[in-house]
Amino acid sequence: MDGLRYDYPEKSQSGGFSLLASEGLVAESLIPVYQSTTFPTHVSMATGVHPDKHGIMHNSFYDKVKDDSYSYSPEANWIQIKPIWAYLEEKNIKTATYFWVGSETPWNGIDITYSKFPFSNSVSEESKIDQILDWLSLPDDEKPRLIMSWWHGIDSVAHKYGMKDKRVLKKFIDQDQHLLNLIDRIKARRLWDKLTLIVVSDHGMTDISNLINIKQLLKQSEIKAKTSLGPAVGHIFLEDKNDLKRAIEALQKNKFLKVKSKDDIHKDLKLNHPTRTGDIVVFTKSPNMLVSRMNNDPPIGMHGYNPEVNKDMEGIFLAYGYKIKPNKIGKVHQVDVAPTILNLLQVEIPDYMEGKVIKLD
Ligand SMILES: [Zn+2]
Repeated sequence: MDGLRYDYPEKSQSGGFSLLASEGLVAESLIPVYQSTTFPTHVSMATGVHPDKHGIMHNSFYDKVKDDSYSYSPEANWIQIKPIWAYLEEKNIKTATYFWVGSETPWNGIDITYSKFPFSNSVSEESKIDQILDWLSLPDDEKPRLIMSWWHGIDSVAHKYGMKDKRVLKKFIDQDQHLLNLIDRIKARRLWDKLTLIVVSDHGMTDISNLINIKQLLKQSEIKAKTSLGPAVGHIFLEDKNDLKRAIEALQKNKFLKVKSKDDIHKDLKLNHPTRTGDIVVFTKSPNMLVSRMNNDPPIGMHGYNPEVNKDMEGIFLAYGYKIKPNKIGKVHQVDVAPTILNLLQVEIPDYMEGKVIKLD
């Protein structure tokens, strides 16, 4: 559920989330990877590694060796670690996705058995539930053992109107009812004794009020560079490496920016990718946002910020059904999602995964 912040499930009164709160397992929150934007977070949940390993640094980014830019691409081969569906398909376990970043095309020749594409924002949750139930009704030898699906959550509404707007809560209630519908329809098929549901979000959301134009700062000091900016982390690829010191000084003129050369990025941030991290990386905190041009209709809600210092970035993790003991547990991390799924499926967890198995029973 896109953008569903950790504090939303408890706002449910008679929907899927209140049912999960009483009969399922609820984690305090799901800590996203950094930067906490939709593409890196979805890929981290699917691979069990951070963006410095899987390479999806943001929804759009630049690769200096390919000399090519990625932008909301359906091309799976940009992902540099095997996604969970490809890992399972290689073991002859059928999988399905109804919209998940990177699952629309084969990953290095490994195709997914069932996948809906191309991505469309206008497909309703009802259609996804219908398809999920159809997949679950297939004969055993055709049925996928893992189904992953992206739902709207509150993301678009929250970006547009901000978290204080009533429309955000209204959208949450809508998603809560769809979740209840999914649970009820699985119940009607008597599948809860062999099916586990995991509900996650990709990131939280916070309100912002200040845009920082990075391109303009560079231009003012006549520094030529390619910029690849997310809301919270920006990568600067210099045309002339001798400009490094001058560019850092130019960017530091804005007091809301933290500026580091590639070599000085703290390793715990897991943002240092060999070919997709800029010569210079700029960081900002909310309520600031990095942009490459001024926007007359700027977003009010935003995410992407460092989850270690901004609690509003934390998302949700709930589980229900087969092998789930109703419980409240502490915070879990997005890189834990893939190993936890493999553990439920009783499939060996590959060494490259950085997360741990979340105890569900
Ligand atoms: Zn998102």
